[in-house]
Amino acid sequence: MASSEWRVVNGTDTNRDLLLVAHHAEGRGLTMQGRLIGAHMSTAGGLHNAFYKGKEIGCTAIQLFTVSPRQWQPVMVDETQVEAFNRARQETGIQSVVSHAIYLINLASPDPETRRKSFHAYLAELRRCAALGIPYAVLHMGSNPDFEAGMRLLIENLRQLLQEMPDGVHITMETMAGQGSSLCYRFEHFAQILNALPSEKLVLCADSCHLFAAGYDLRDPESYEATWQAFDRLIGLSRLRVWHLNDSKKPLGSRVDRHEHIGQGELGEGAFRLILNDPRFAHLPMLLETPDDTRFAEDLARLRSYITDDETVVR
Ligand SMILES: [Zn+2]
Ligand SMILES: [Zn+2]
Repeated sequence: MASSEWRVVNGTDTNRDLLLVAHHAEGRGLTMQGRLIGAHMSTAGGLHNAFYKGKEIGCTAIQLFTVSPRQWQPVMVDETQVEAFNRARQETGIQSVVSHAIYLINLASPDPETRRKSFHAYLAELRRCAALGIPYAVLHMGSNPDFEAGMRLLIENLRQLLQEMPDGVHITMETMAGQGSSLCYRFEHFAQILNALPSEKLVLCADSCHLFAAGYDLRDPESYEATWQAFDRLIGLSRLRVWHLNDSKKPLGSRVDRHEHIGQGELGEGAFRLILNDPRFAHLPMLLETPDDTRFAEDLARLRSYITDDETVVR
């Protein structure tokens, strides 16, 4: 896609829009190359490097941290970073970019100081994403030993974020594995949030490992379909905007979050074949967070090999 076309769609809010524009621009059906499949890339040496490293291993979408994930500092990106970022995006042709918020954030924490720092860190994340043209900022939903208190605190923080956040970016809530006292590992938990805050800026990221660990089976067509029926009924499939594709080291319902390489874990090849060939998801960015990044290329090749119908993206 030419750079002028990219500029036109830069402000739109879904990757699907981008794809449809790309589709019309090229005047043909989207092939397997049009699928948005990639990985969480390192930003060592600058945010823009995630694009070049992603391109090297065959990514057509990437995820990155816009700041170091282990520190609170609510920094802003500067003009030079934004320019380098936009240039890398154009040069690599990787238009689909997702950010992952830092792991320290816990909007549901019983500790007011942690909640305050979390709020400002995530707001800064949303602002950086808006400046960089990143439509999705993936968020872990936090934890609290008192589940209902945690949900209330989380909802209050999200309400405030919705008021203060910039346009052009979505609060992208990740389905959690349910480890320890973490919130939002059942679709009902997201339904509770969305009933309180029916905003279009609240969307979801489905993590295959987390879903499975939380008890949602994806391995055979019947349970796979039952999972998505439930998701659609409680949340709405149109809210699903990002996939994290990870196999699981731990069994169904273990509520333990341990990623495994694609096809090598408890989920196995079957689940990924179903996801990759599901026309409801074919326009979504699908990103690896498997444990060893030197094996990303191998995992990507495996994912692509599962796609049997290269026209699935055209709905
Ligand atoms: Zn995550
Ligand atoms: Zn995980």
